[in-house]
This record gives sequence, structure tokens and C-alpha cells, in this order.
Amino acid sequence: MSSPNERLDSIYQQVVARNPGEEEFHQAVREVIESLDPVLRRYPEFAEHKMIERICEPERQIIFRVPWEDDRGEIHINRGFRVQFNSALGPFKGGLRFHPSVYLGIIKFLGFEQVFKNALTGLPIGGGKGGSDFDPKGRSDNEVMRFCQSFMTEMYRHIGEYMDVPAGDIGVGGREVGYLFGQYKRLTGRYESGVLTGKDPAWGGALVRRESTGYGAVYFVDEMLKARNDSMEGKICVVSGSGNVAIYTIEKIHQLGGKVVACSDSAGFVYDEEGLDLDLIKQIKEVERRRIKAYADTRKQAKYTPKGDIWAVPCQVAMPSATQNELDEEHARTLVANGCLAVGEGANMPTTPAGIRVFLEAGVAFGPGKATNAGGVATSALEMQQNASRDSWSFEYTEERLASIMRGVHRTCWETAKDFDQPGNYVVGANIAGFIRVAEAMLALGLV
Ligand code: NDP
Repeated sequence: MSSPNERLDSIYQQVVARNPGEEEFHQAVREVIESLDPVLRRYPEFAEHKMIERICEPERQIIFRVPWEDDRGEIHINRGFRVQFNSALGPFKGGLRFHPSVYLGIIKFLGFEQVFKNALTGLPIGGGKGGSDFDPKGRSDNEVMRFCQSFMTEMYRHIGEYMDVPAGDIGVGGREVGYLFGQYKRLTGRYESGVLTGKDPAWGGALVRRESTGYGAVYFVDEMLKARNDSMEGKICVVSGSGNVAIYTIEKIHQLGGKVVACSDSAGFVYDEEGLDLDLIKQIKEVERRRIKAYADTRKQAKYTPKGDIWAVPCQVAMPSATQNELDEEHARTLVANGCLAVGEGANMPTTPAGIRVFLEAGVAFGPGKATNAGGVATSALEMQQNASRDSWSFEYTEERLASIMRGVHRTCWETAKDFDQPGNYVVGANIAGFIRVAEAMLALGLV
């Protein structure tokens, strides 16, 4: 009989061999697998029923052609993906990413993470993810609409409120969700609000969904600080990105008395010693869809650094909220040397494995994405509840539900880490708690 550790290593090798070239997926699997040795020792039935092998294999993977025409009449062919990873706990649930870097390995890493994240919320949602290598940057509204319509013309047959419920992610916000829903409605003839989340509250969306990932991430970090008898009040913070997650992370940090001094986009970062002017950022990013450089053109005391290293800006709280692997070992060492106390991952897998090790060894409170950014999908599940009951809740009530869910996610990770003899290690706590919930549901459903 092999030991749990040998068994885990062999499962990981099989995942690599069966999914060649999908590095991000391998990385996400490895991170979870490395936490599971004590789980297999405590629950030998999971090994006997091959729960890890089953969880690492998506239930279904769909790849499709997305042809569309630009404003000059030129035809473009993109590739669309929907990976329906695991539906043991509920319908597949997870966003769509439109970014030129998208390929199957990225969608699979995101879908895999989503399974555990959704389990951690305690809500009845399975995990999935989708997207395309389409680049919305510089495209007109009409081009984005035609792309979304073509994308949905294939995807509509694979989704539904009881089957698979997509939402937004990088490059997919309220505008795109609107075009996608419009095409779904046209193709099916059904006003099936629950088929997509992240909708505009004017036609079936939930209040707080737009703010939820960022707000939730800050609630999680605040809970980590409270567990150390500290709080967000007065903290100097750095938030990477300037998209949906970053903007509402900044907003909640400011509401809780912290000060965000830097944010970025893929071209560079801005530093504003007095604290970022969020109204200006929203105007530049949400209304005008311009580059973050425009911030420094307007606020004269702010400094713009093209292609610079945002993690060199001294801070007590760092919240990577742009993309995967944006914070590596060297960045982590710089943050620790500058006195960083807490890191909360607003993005999915933004810290490399070596970076995570640096934070854990230095005793930094480290919130992994699958716990810290779970507020977005949790509020999507609240949107599904409202759609199913044809109701709409107030902002205050919905935000209190979000805050309570995030306190619950924090408690689950904290208690699980303690129970498995790694107190304060939220990575282990999140991986183990998420895994056990999914594995128990799959066991109960039989060999499916
Ligand atoms: P947006 O598209 O709204 O914003 C993404 C931001 O990240 C932009 O500022 C973008 O800059 C920057 N960015 C994207 N790709 C890169 C890259 N390769 N290098 C450097 N910067 C990059 O996306 P979201 O805010 O929705 O998503 C951000 C992260 O949060 C992602 O990891 C996503 O998976 C995760 N997440 C999102 C949730 C949501 O509800 N939206 C829920 C949970 C997690 P630029 O404009 O220059 O590309």
C-alpha cells in the first residue's frame, strides 16, 4: 500500500500527463493536493473512492468556434470555452473571461479553484468557468455586442438556471452580461433571469453584485486582522489592477478607514501618497474605459510608473486583484521587508507558490483567493435566490448577507486549519474545508 503522500504525488503526475501544456491548471491542482495528506489519513474512504482523481477531472469540457465581424467588415474567428467542472453541490457556477491569454489551461485552473471556492461559501453551487481569447480592448460597443451574440449562439444550449449559470470575470462586466443575456433570451424565447448573474439591477440583477468581490475580499482581510487583534483602520494599502475587483476593494478599504496609495493596470501603476481618489478612478475606468495613466495626468501629486513594480510600494496590506501569478517570490520578499502584515488575494491565484511560502514563513496573514474572493460568487448565488423568488433585496440587506457569508468563510478556514494542526494557515484551511464538502457530496451521490 502506498502512503497518502506517495499517492498524492502519483495523482499529481497523472494530472500533468493527462493535461499536457496546461501549466496554470497543474499549479492550481498541486496547491490543493499539497494540503490533502492529513485528509487522506483521516478519511481513508476518500482514497478508496478515488475522490481526488474524480475531482481533478472536469465533468464536461466544451470548446467552440466564435466567428464575428468587426466594424470594417473583417471576419474574426475566436475560440470559446466552457468547462463544467463539478456539479455535486449545485448547478455549475463561475464566470466568463474574455482576454487574449485565455486557453483551456487557464479556464481549467479557474474552474478547479471555483469548485472549492463555491463549496466554502456554504451555498448550493457547483463550479465551472468559461471564456474566450477575444480581446475586448479597443473594440466598439457594437463589436463587443456582435462577439457576445456569437459566443452565446453556441453556449446557450449548454447553460440554464438549473444546469450552468455563468457570470463575469476579466473583460466581462455589466455591458457584456447584458449582450449575452439579450441573445440567450432571443434564442430561447425565455426570460430566464437565473441563467446569468452579474446582470444590471434594472433588469434582474442583484444590488451589491458589482461591489461584492472587492467588498468581500476586504471583509475577509479585516477578519484576518481581527483574529490578530488588529483592524483595517489606518492601514496603508496597495491594490493591483483597476478593474471590477480592484475598484470595489479600494472603496471598502476607504470605508473601513484604510488608505490605498497605489493601483495599476497591465501598462503600469499610479502612486498617490494622499490616498487614491476613487471617483476619478471610476470615471477613467468605468465610464471612459481609459488607461490608469490618465489618473496621474489629472491628479498632479500622483506619480505614474510604466511597467513598474507595484509591490515595491511600502504597505501594511497588499491585495493583488489583477490576474494570476502577478506576485512572485521576490515581490513577496520586498513586501515582507517593507512591513506588510496581511495579503488578501482578490484575484484568482495571483501569488506564485514560492511567493505564498515566503508569506507563510514570515507569519504574514495570507488569504488565498478561493476564500478571500468568494464574495463575488456568493452574491451571485444571492442573485439566483432573488431571481427564483422574483424578489429584489435592498442594498443594506444584501451587503449584510455578504458580510455574514465572508465571516463564515473566514471561520471555516480558521477552524479547519486549527483542526488539522496548522493554525492560522488559511491556504490549508480553505483547501481542506472546500475539498471535504465536495468529496462528501460526491460520495453521497454515488459513482457519477
Ligand atoms: P477586470 O477585467 O474588471 O479588471 C482586470 C484588471 O486586471 C485590469 O486592471 C487589468 O488591466 C488587469 N489585468 C488583467 N490581466 C492582466 C495581466 N495579464 N497583467 C496585468 N494586469 C492585468 O477583471 P476583474 O476585476 O473582474 O478580475 C480581476 C481578478 O479577480 C481576476 O483574477 C478574476 O478571476 C478575479 N475574480 C473576479 C471576480 C469578479 O466578480 N469579477 C470574482 C472572483 C475573482 P488591463 O485593463 O490593462 O488589462
